[in-house]
Amino acid sequence: ATPMSIMVGVGRGARSGVLVRDAEALQVMETIDTIVVDKTGTLTEGRPTVTRIVALDGADEQRALRLAAAVEQGSEHPLGQAVVSAAKDAGLALPEVHDFTSEAGGGVRGTVDGHAVLVGNSSYVLGEATDADRIEARADELRADGATAIHLSVDGNPYAVLAIADPVKETTPEALAGLREAGIRVVMLTGDNRTTAEAVARRLGIDEVRAEVLPEHKSEVVQQLTAEGRKVAMAGDGVNDAPALAAAAVGIAMGTGTDVAIESAGITLLKGDLTGIVRARNLSHATMRNIR
Ligand code: ADP
Ligand code: MG
Repeated sequence: ATPMSIMVGVGRGARSGVLVRDAEALQVMETIDTIVVDKTGTLTEGRPTVTRIVALDGADEQRALRLAAAVEQGSEHPLGQAVVSAAKDAGLALPEVHDFTSEAGGGVRGTVDGHAVLVGNSSYVLGEATDADRIEARADELRADGATAIHLSVDGNPYAVLAIADPVKETTPEALAGLREAGIRVVMLTGDNRTTAEAVARRLGIDEVRAEVLPEHKSEVVQQLTAEGRKVAMAGDGVNDAPALAAAAVGIAMGTGTDVAIESAGITLLKGDLTGIVRARNLSHATMRNIR
């Protein structure tokens, strides 16, 4: 390759918010036919807010928020931060949490005021609870319009379901339209619940969804598609996306995302604007044409 053409391409990218860290990414980008896109923080703003608290029989909404937030104080997850903000906005003083532990892709637990409190997805929180199906149905109602529903249990008893909404980025529909026009297959990849993921995908016109994927399995999805002969780019923002970003032919990180994601990707999109993917592809094509 001609280093000069690459340098020109890198410079042009930077001026349009496409930061190229790895020259090879710029060369390969034009050959991409599939893009795997993380949901939370990539398609969506990644600034979720609590929109509803459904207290289960006899439970108290305010207590639910207070206990959930107390445990989530220890979490770095955007969902956890949403719960803590909601409690603060409600003017609640948060008790201390003891024995805090978190499980990636599952949730968090700890002891609050002497009670064992769990917050997270259904398998993490409900486990074998006898009325799990009935409670999960309540959660599914909240998920039907794209909210993430998380469960809260106190001393092993299901206590409440929290709905957390994360708006789609303003630029996402335009970016997806551009990718579709270029004939690129779009696959949504998320650790979130299937019902939520499908509701968001439907709204965005994405017809391929891989949901409930554990952090350690995200890169396998990229490897699988690659083994099927696809040229795969992966776009993501989180720590849990880093291995998948590294496994893809081109990794695309959000500038708004974690440092680990940015370091694992060849390209970073300033402000997390996904329309940069189409610009990166055009830039790659122009650069390679110059070289040829
Ligand atoms: P994504 O791939 O969408 O970024 P994650 O893999 O980080 O999602 O998390 C998957 C799911 O695990 C979340 O949708 C949520 O149900 C649960 N979860 C993970 N961390 C937390 C937390 N701190 N509080 C509550 N739920 C959590
Ligand atoms: Mg994410």
